[in-house]
Amino acid sequence: MYVRQLTDPITSLKGVGKHSADSYENLGVRTLGELLLLAPRTYEDRSILVPLARLEDGEFANTVVEVVSHGYFGGTRKRTLKVIVKDISDAGDGRAALLCFGRNFLERVLRIGSRFYLYGQFQRNFHELQSSQFDMLPLQSDGSMPGDFGKLLAIYPLSGGLSQRIIRRDVAATLARTDRFAEELPAELVEKYRLLPINAAVRALHQPNSLDDALDAQRTLAFIELFYLLLMTRRKNTSSGSAALRKSPGMSDLQKKFISLLPFTLTKDQRTVLDEICAELIDANSMNRLLQGDVGSGKTLVAWISALQVIEGGGQVAFMAPTELLARQHAEKAAEWLEPLGIRLAFLTGSVVGKSRKLLLEALSSGHIDIIIGTHALFSPEVTFSKLRYIIIDEQHRFGVVQRVSLLQKGRAPDVLMMTATPIPRTLALTVFGDLNISTIRTMPEGRLPVTTYLVANESRERMYAAVGVEFSRGHQAYFVYPRIDDRGESSLRDVETMFQLLTTTMYPGVPAALIHSRLPEDEKVSILTRFRKKELSYLVSTSVVEVGIDIPNATCMVIEHAERFGLSALHQLRGRVGRSDLQSYCFLVYERELGDDARKRLMVMKESNDGFHIAEQDLLIRGPGEVAGTRQSGFLKLRFANLTDNFEMIELIRDEIDTILRNDPGLVSIEYAMVRDVLINAAPFDDKAVEN
Ligand code: ADP
Ligand code: MG
Repeated sequence: MYVRQLTDPITSLKGVGKHSADSYENLGVRTLGELLLLAPRTYEDRSILVPLARLEDGEFANTVVEVVSHGYFGGTRKRTLKVIVKDISDAGDGRAALLCFGRNFLERVLRIGSRFYLYGQFQRNFHELQSSQFDMLPLQSDGSMPGDFGKLLAIYPLSGGLSQRIIRRDVAATLARTDRFAEELPAELVEKYRLLPINAAVRALHQPNSLDDALDAQRTLAFIELFYLLLMTRRKNTSSGSAALRKSPGMSDLQKKFISLLPFTLTKDQRTVLDEICAELIDANSMNRLLQGDVGSGKTLVAWISALQVIEGGGQVAFMAPTELLARQHAEKAAEWLEPLGIRLAFLTGSVVGKSRKLLLEALSSGHIDIIIGTHALFSPEVTFSKLRYIIIDEQHRFGVVQRVSLLQKGRAPDVLMMTATPIPRTLALTVFGDLNISTIRTMPEGRLPVTTYLVANESRERMYAAVGVEFSRGHQAYFVYPRIDDRGESSLRDVETMFQLLTTTMYPGVPAALIHSRLPEDEKVSILTRFRKKELSYLVSTSVVEVGIDIPNATCMVIEHAERFGLSALHQLRGRVGRSDLQSYCFLVYERELGDDARKRLMVMKESNDGFHIAEQDLLIRGPGEVAGTRQSGFLKLRFANLTDNFEMIELIRDEIDTILRNDPGLVSIEYAMVRDVLINAAPFDDKAVEN
């Protein structure tokens, strides 16, 4: 019998074609190993029977029933089957109606008098318990629980055409006939912390016997995930490659010249962090520093200035951005600022191909390029440097840890500067990143006016359109942002395409505009942004591709539709696209009435504050302590099982264990075969698609 390998593609499973494979890929699942390490969102307890007789409004039934009668309701054209069932347990004779919308064929399946297991959520309407979302399976002849019933069921995150049933089927097939994971953790740790062996953990993750079983699996996998994370980030500093380049403290000549050419003066905070960074660049230890500051506070500029110091000493610099669009924007800015100083720049992304790619790579490895700007394409093995000494990573939380480490290995202990607009608590940073230092820019460049934010109820949008129109007449520009591209089943959403039509024909006829979203080819996106930058376009209608980093100072209006659907940090990032000059800017948050509590709080926070640090704190309060910046949801670090807040004690323990291990056996850093590590730590490559959801 053929045994599948963990590295086999997901399509090696029966029933998984190209279409499902694409959906799986959105969940970070390409191989069978990745499927087995897909974390369920939650579990549904179908092990305890809940008969209809004891059901309250809104509760889930989990019981054995007998079909009593069939009926139909609705018009003659679109009649819907209604099946009455009753408990056959000892608990009484509860009855309920199953409304079979679009499933009239069930008349032949649910025959009168036959018995089934039933699971579903019920509402009490017109003195009758009703459900339109239920699962039923025939009783097994031997009386045992069939299929999903009577178990604790894993509930997975979904994407595209995948359903819980499909994922469960594929997981079961994989568990039944696939190669096993090798045990990667040191055996002493498994024993000492009472972890499950890896394969037992994987099984319990998907098919737990009890909630405790599932929790043990989660704990084991969180432990492994954190173990690798900490192992990779706790490698001791080796001496810095760039230290040898320069000796004298203070700004270099090139840096002084550049600063004197700027059309503005650096803020006090920019000066302070620049001093911190430059001092560490010439220090003997290699730098590992996080530069945090609100969107638009001038981090990127600081990074460029610090890079000059390394270049002047003859070193090379890699500047990495999370998307091609951003990389290109950085490259354009760098060309404007740095090329006049004689700095040799190159731009590398996945779409630079053929001869030009080859020439570029040669120039890079022979030292004819000073700064290379790019996306994660900078990680590919073909990219080699002659003397990479400094790595700058923009919006660093968007990159996986392995990607960062693999870039580190390209240079001789290069200095690293990571930039983020998402502040993380210091204790967390220290724990997870070892000896990471943090520099913070707190103030905005002088002359910036706080963005004025208006909350606009959906039905009173006319005045907003008028206000934006006034800004157009002043020669200013705007963004209109919508949560999604087209209606995929959610008909109440105004999607970009429809709104683009409406805006261009009805609201602002004759005002030049463009539609931009992540499904456009890269060169089209770039050309639209270039035209917008040149003011050939007055506004962009877009999905949240404009969320991160786009810097167009003449844009003064940000309109966000369905603002209630965005998280606080996304709203703040989006609003950060305006207010980037001394012009007064406006943000309009258009919301649907009947806001939930949390959505209302988020909008109020946005209205009242422009301070990213305050907003991040409020975000924590609203979302609760389990979801601090630093956990999965906030995107600071994409972890599958661990949670940097809840697992704080575990982090401390593991950190100590790793220190001991590294003292006794430094070789452990390079585990040869580490499938679990590779799946857990290697976050899926970043693309705009991921930002958009
Ligand atoms: P961040 O990377 O923190 O989002 P940027 O470095 O992109 O911010 O800066 C945002 C904008 O502000 C850019 O257009 C930049 O040229 C400008 N800028 C940076 N520093 C200053 C300053 N000290 N005074 C005025 N404008 C500045
Ligand atoms: Mg930036």
